[in-house]
Amino acid sequence: MDCLFCKIIAGEIPSTKVYEDEYVYAFKDISPIAPLHYLFIPKQHISGASAITEENADVVGKIFMAIAKVAAQEKLESGFRVITNCGDDAGQTVHHLHFHLIAGQKMGWSADQGV
Ligand code: AMP
Ligand code: ZN
Repeated sequence: MDCLFCKIIAGEIPSTKVYEDEYVYAFKDISPIAPLHYLFIPKQHISGASAITEENADVVGKIFMAIAKVAAQEKLESGFRVITNCGDDAGQTVHHLHFHLIAGQKMGWSADQGV
């Protein structure tokens, strides 16, 4: 399958790993929009939030457990944001489910601005 994030999981494309377990892989975003910007992805290919089903939904909990662990390791006590973009209007560019973890600065709140 021609999927950038599947290739990252397979080690065919390099990435800077920040977390890995049986179900989840996390790495630094290549084009950070905040001082800390990591991506959390399921090892199983899921095209995006609209493809979450009864069969594959458990991995979303695994991803959020991983996010909580990394947030504690990185001492993000003052806060962080988790984002998933789904579809064209949201600007999804990679069609493998991923959650952006963003932190390290005070963030505003707007529908057309990540930070
Ligand atoms: P989205 O726009 O929500 O689909 O997010 C895709 C994210 O993947 C963007 O923030 C990109 O900067 C990031 N990205 C694309 N290619 C790579 C790569 N090779 N390594 C790390 N992050 C990447
Ligand atoms: Zn994939």
